[in-house]
Amino acid sequence: MKFFIKTFGCIQNTADSERIKAFYWNKGYEETDSWKRADLVIINTCIVRESAENRVYGLINLIHQFNVKFPISNDKKKRIKIIVTGCLAGLADKDKSGKKLAQLKRDFPEVSDFLPIEKISFKIDPIRDKKKISLIPISFGCSNFCSYCIVPFARGPEVSRPMKEILKEVDEVLKNGFKEVLLIGQNVNSYGADLMSNDQFPISNEMLVHMGKKRLRSSFHILLEEVAKKDLQKISFVSSNPWDFSDELIETIAKYPNIDRLLHLPIQSGDNDILKKMNRGYTAKDYLNLVKKIRDKVDGVRFSTDIIIGFPGEDEKAFQNTVDLCKKANFEIAYLNKYSPRKGTVSAKLYKDEIPQSEKKKRWNILNNLINRR
Ligand code: SAM
Ligand code: SF4
Repeated sequence: MKFFIKTFGCIQNTADSERIKAFYWNKGYEETDSWKRADLVIINTCIVRESAENRVYGLINLIHQFNVKFPISNDKKKRIKIIVTGCLAGLADKDKSGKKLAQLKRDFPEVSDFLPIEKISFKIDPIRDKKKISLIPISFGCSNFCSYCIVPFARGPEVSRPMKEILKEVDEVLKNGFKEVLLIGQNVNSYGADLMSNDQFPISNEMLVHMGKKRLRSSFHILLEEVAKKDLQKISFVSSNPWDFSDELIETIAKYPNIDRLLHLPIQSGDNDILKKMNRGYTAKDYLNLVKKIRDKVDGVRFSTDIIIGFPGEDEKAFQNTVDLCKKANFEIAYLNKYSPRKGTVSAKLYKDEIPQSEKKKRWNILNNLINRR
């Protein structure tokens, strides 16, 4: 029996797929690189933007058409079986009324199962795809509720993995010859705030207000230091958010040269009104002050970022504020996303998606030329 896995979306999904692969290998399946040759196709989904969601539906439909046209056998069980996991399955699973799952089953009768990723345990050794870097998830979910984002609904609140378990995984990848690790979390630098109540960390469980967000103190810098002490050439982490970028974290990065000097720090917008509507907490000035503070302390640091283009209310002036901030921050790379209203999020409920696609595209080109094509 052969399986094929298609992964959409972010690096967290890529890491999840490495465990899903191991799960099916352990069940006796072999991997194939063509879905047409597979008995089982697993689709690891992303629904962060409509375009990503449509690609998922497109693939389900394509496999379904293939099954109808070229049935391997008339016996239904021998047609290509489809399993959907990732954020689409997560969103349905987190809806306790069961209505979302029932709707998905009605819309996609050709899908055999909607598999929540939480069902795939961490006890499984992942089949690592990347030859140089090993991907190590350190937390799941997100408790931030940026107004545009579906992730907290699809993945649930932030849950951190125990530090011991993460450090054991780092030791294993070192033993297997890896020299680089990428620590992954939707809000990677709030790692550990949810573990504090278990007394796993020797720092106090106090509530802070930092950059407009009420936070429990994170222990990410403690974990990062433990990882940096090991014999690794490079340690990177994604995605960090400005409100959890503590002074202790900056000191840790400065102290260990094997921590990557390219830091990913999503800004999303350079306009204060838009940032407020996005529920991002910080202002453009807060962000620039943080960038300066990090540059002053960490030699050779560079920044990459995420920006949403055409969020409702982003007029010419607001967009210009983003352009101005980008010039000041001097980003090396920007991942540019055209705003897409996601059903169930606050921004989709409160604001009309009023910026035309053509205008979003124009603004996308301006930022792309400014940052990515220099
Ligand atoms: N947790 C990370 C963070 O905070 O940046 C990544 C979250 S999300 C999976 C990756 C990026 O998708 C976000 O940084 C944001 O720029 C973009 N994004 C999320 N929701 C979006 C939406 N509704 N429309 C357009 N882009 C969106
Ligand atoms: Fe989404 Fe914001 Fe959480 Fe990132 S921090 S996953 S953008 S809610």
